[in-house]
Amino acid sequence: MDKYLKALKQNVCSICVDSSEKGACTLNDKETCAVELYFPQIIDVVHKTKAEKLFDLQKELRETICTQCRAQEAGNCYLREDANCSLDRYFPLIVEIIRKVDAGKL
Ligand code: SF4
Ligand code: SF4
Repeated sequence: MDKYLKALKQNVCSICVDSSEKGACTLNDKETCAVELYFPQIIDVVHKTKAEKLFDLQKELRETICTQCRAQEAGNCYLREDANCSLDRYFPLIVEIIRKVDAGKL
């Protein structure tokens, strides 16, 4: 898990709009990062998926993660709609870094 977290910090947090110039997360105590909160489940979905297209994998992620996230109501998420969910914003990059860690490239 540590290697995935390290890769996340180095490759996603570093370019996240919610991070400082040095890549430190700037969310406050009342805000939650969906990537951090659901990272083990996200990794699990990426490992178990049979989807070949990113679009299908994104659908699977939403079905697994968004359904347990309290920000979503009846399939709608105000954070996603405002491009304010880190998981939704950086999902292709997150999938890429998980796969690179698996391949020993990160
Ligand atoms: S919001 Fe999430 S992805 Fe963005 S810097 Fe904070 S921990 Fe990293
Ligand atoms: S898109 Fe919304 S429901 Fe899905 S993980 Fe992000 S904040 Fe939660």
